[in-house]
Amino acid sequence: MIDAGHGGNDPGATVGQCKEKDIVLSVALLAGAYIEKYIDGVEVIYTRDDDTFVELNQRANIANKAKADLFISIHANAAGSMNAYGTETFVLGTNRNESNLKVAQLENSVIAFEDNYEENYQGFDPNSPASYIIFNMIQNAYLEQSTTLAALIQHQFTKRVGRKNRDVQQAAFLVLHKTSMPSVLTELGFITNAKERQFLMSTEGQEFMASAIFRAVRDYKKEIDAKQSLTMSEAETAHQFVENPKSEPVNIGPSHFGVTYKLQIFSSSKILKLDHRSIKDLDAVDYYVDGSLYKYTIGYSSDIEEIKRLKEKYKKEYNGCFIVAFQNGKRISMAEAQKLQSGGQ
Ligand SMILES: [Zn+2]
Repeated sequence: MIDAGHGGNDPGATVGQCKEKDIVLSVALLAGAYIEKYIDGVEVIYTRDDDTFVELNQRANIANKAKADLFISIHANAAGSMNAYGTETFVLGTNRNESNLKVAQLENSVIAFEDNYEENYQGFDPNSPASYIIFNMIQNAYLEQSTTLAALIQHQFTKRVGRKNRDVQQAAFLVLHKTSMPSVLTELGFITNAKERQFLMSTEGQEFMASAIFRAVRDYKKEIDAKQSLTMSEAETAHQFVENPKSEPVNIGPSHFGVTYKLQIFSSSKILKLDHRSIKDLDAVDYYVDGSLYKYTIGYSSDIEEIKRLKEKYKKEYNGCFIVAFQNGKRISMAEAQKLQSGGQ
């Protein structure tokens, strides 16, 4: 889903004849065209493809209804100082500093163009910092993916197009907070800066920025696809382990609170085949992914004493092996695990 900011009676930032709504529409349509042309199997939908105004809530609704995989909102920035320039891409979060709050306030203030906005946004006042407290409570399930995309966009803007990098930022944007998919809001540059305004109004500048967005989406998809095939091979491996009776979990009673312990024996930069000499004779071998490493474990029990005995047995062979805890398949700290187990009993 590509979302060109503003539109219709909402021009966005304006300097003379230069209007944010026109720049972002051109870049949005170009980026969408590149994506559809050059990335196989990707369909692009727009919240607007002409000069019309779409309410902020409605933009998220369109994306949610379409079950979009990504939401990219495109904007251009404005500042009191004509010296400010450069690109920044936001993910949803709390306003970390005054300048992020300002960008969010500016972009959120467009709800004043909507009828009934007091009702639709439950009294949200874009200009009151207190209104932003609600954003503190938002648990953004897609923060990691959103940040990945934001970083790829910034990389393209700065390394390939040569724009000034104002980095990936977090701020509280109304347009992002109702979307149920990874979402970013990118600011192409400041139209209040004469040089940047000229660049963003030029056909060449718009083509550069649009192709940067396209390349970022292409790289994002590559990363996500690679991760998905990794998850597939993990699932396959897990399946094989289930077939091996030796590796079946033991001691999974009602009192384990989802906590299991394993003994971590080594890390590998590659997934090892099950018959690899370093693991083929071990019981209940498993691994989890941590960054770029596959961390191999043996044993599987909700009773830490059992894994301690395992550690005694293997500590010579695997010098430096240590116990790790998981809750519902996710690595947690030992302190957390013990707290969960003792707290629940
Ligand atoms: Zn805007």
